[in-house]
Amino acid sequence: MKITRKDFLLCSGLGLAAVLAKRAVSAVSGSVGTAAPAKAAKHWGLVIDLQKCRKEAGCVDCIKACNVAHNIPQIQDPAHEVKWIWNQPFESAFAFEQTDYARQAYAGHPIPLLCNHCANPPCVRVCPTQATWKREDDGIVMMDWHRCIGCRYCMAACPYGSRSFNWQDPRPAIASPNPDFPTRTKGVVEKCNFCEERLARGRGPACVEACPENALVFGDLADPDAEARKLLRARFGLQREPELGTGPSVYYLV
Ligand code: SF4
Repeated sequence: MKITRKDFLLCSGLGLAAVLAKRAVSAVSGSVGTAAPAKAAKHWGLVIDLQKCRKEAGCVDCIKACNVAHNIPQIQDPAHEVKWIWNQPFESAFAFEQTDYARQAYAGHPIPLLCNHCANPPCVRVCPTQATWKREDDGIVMMDWHRCIGCRYCMAACPYGSRSFNWQDPRPAIASPNPDFPTRTKGVVEKCNFCEERLARGRGPACVEACPENALVFGDLADPDAEARKLLRARFGLQREPELGTGPSVYYLV
């Protein structure tokens, strides 16, 4: 079949229109990284007040909210589980804070852990396909699951165990899929995204909204007037293993 220049230009125009339409649908459905954040920040960070967290014994509201918002599969086998935010006892989360004479106020307490959205993220440095990168405008460490080749270098590089690998198809293990967030596939790595899809709509992270004690405060760490910064001025905040030079953006008030 002979294609004239006019046919070619017409097809190109239709192709462009299709791409633009797809992007528009994508933006409406909240696909990751498609819309500009409604509220700008130079350095998003999370401050967790451990005096408020766990006032209610056994509370896992933040974890449940994250799981629902992000289609996290519920896989019982610990070797295959996927987690964006999870609990770990204080003494293993902050192993280097433990001495025989340290205050034992949080001994045995489950502490919520997640990706630290490091200022200097080792996971980003090792990724061979740039499937993970740090957003220069607000510091969020992102993932593009379509670019991930499943090499798991990022998992080896992360000193916090913040990344999970989909050893199996996660979709059958999602009870009620959330149509507003993409599901992933077998063979890709995933982790917390600081709810960037919600920030883009002017909302705070799901875990922060779900906490019944308001123990989680999310804000711009570069803004001295932000609530998160005020808390860090008033209280002592721990970062996980700051001596590694990663610059975690998640702080724990003790
Ligand atoms: Fe990367 Fe781990 Fe730091 Fe998250 S906590 S930015 S996954 S090194």
